[in-house]
Amino acid sequence: MTEERRTIVRVVGVTKSFTMGKVEVMALKGVDLEIFSGEYVSIMGPSGSGKSTLFNMIGGLDKPTDGKVFIDEVDISQLDAYELAWLRNRKIGYIFQTFNLIPVMSALENVTLPMTFAGMNSDDAQDKGIELLKLVGLGERFQHKPLELSGGQQQRVAVARSLANDPAIVLADEPTGNLDLTTGEEIIELLRMLSQERGVTIISATHDYKMLNVSDRVIWVRDGVVDRIERREELNITVGGIGGKGNGTAQT
Ligand code: ADP
Ligand code: MG
Repeated sequence: MTEERRTIVRVVGVTKSFTMGKVEVMALKGVDLEIFSGEYVSIMGPSGSGKSTLFNMIGGLDKPTDGKVFIDEVDISQLDAYELAWLRNRKIGYIFQTFNLIPVMSALENVTLPMTFAGMNSDDAQDKGIELLKLVGLGERFQHKPLELSGGQQQRVAVARSLANDPAIVLADEPTGNLDLTTGEEIIELLRMLSQERGVTIISATHDYKMLNVSDRVIWVRDGVVDRIERREELNITVGGIGGKGNGTAQT
């Protein structure tokens, strides 16, 4: 591939502390990162290591205590509420462990909502929503409400929704966390397809080792710091299933 290595996300000296009563929890203790356009990056680490906090910082869902996050070289801490809403609507798609679909809306309405919010007319949004639902393999079920769908199908709707406004970045926080193994693999395969065929930058916070097989780089987080960053070819792990040739056990 001859693609340029354009920096799309830059995290500089980010710390985040939460105060709970008299106790201060340092969830991030100084994180520096650079993620390039088109990369598939997994943020891995044990529960409580700071993955979701980092996810929220990169996605502009919460503010760092200290340090800066740049998206396409724009310091997002400098954005006003309107600009931040624009960024979150157009530039970034979000996928969550618990799907976070709106229960009273159909699959299609969930997918078209970010488009109409962005100003697209409803006919175009419908067409594009159906196209996206077909892309994620839910061509026939677009009138169903989330609770009439299986977990895997709900996550497919969430993936379609994340692509509503052709974002440059899709952020996923434990996208397979609520799914059984096989369904989780299908979602990972879907994310890999988006990364390869649509060139979307994918950043996934996860502790699903199957994600390692499709990641260009893995950022290992431990206790609020980046422990190490490895490229896929440097990984000492093979996991069965998607793209892997191992027996399903992780060997570190
Ligand atoms: P992970 O996603 O890797 O499991 P988190 O980023 O959710 O980890 O949490 C990192 C640390 O920050 C944990 O100690 C957690 O309890 C704490 N934390 C996260 N969010 C909050 C919050 N909103 N209030 C207080 N503490 C929090
Ligand atoms: Mg988490």
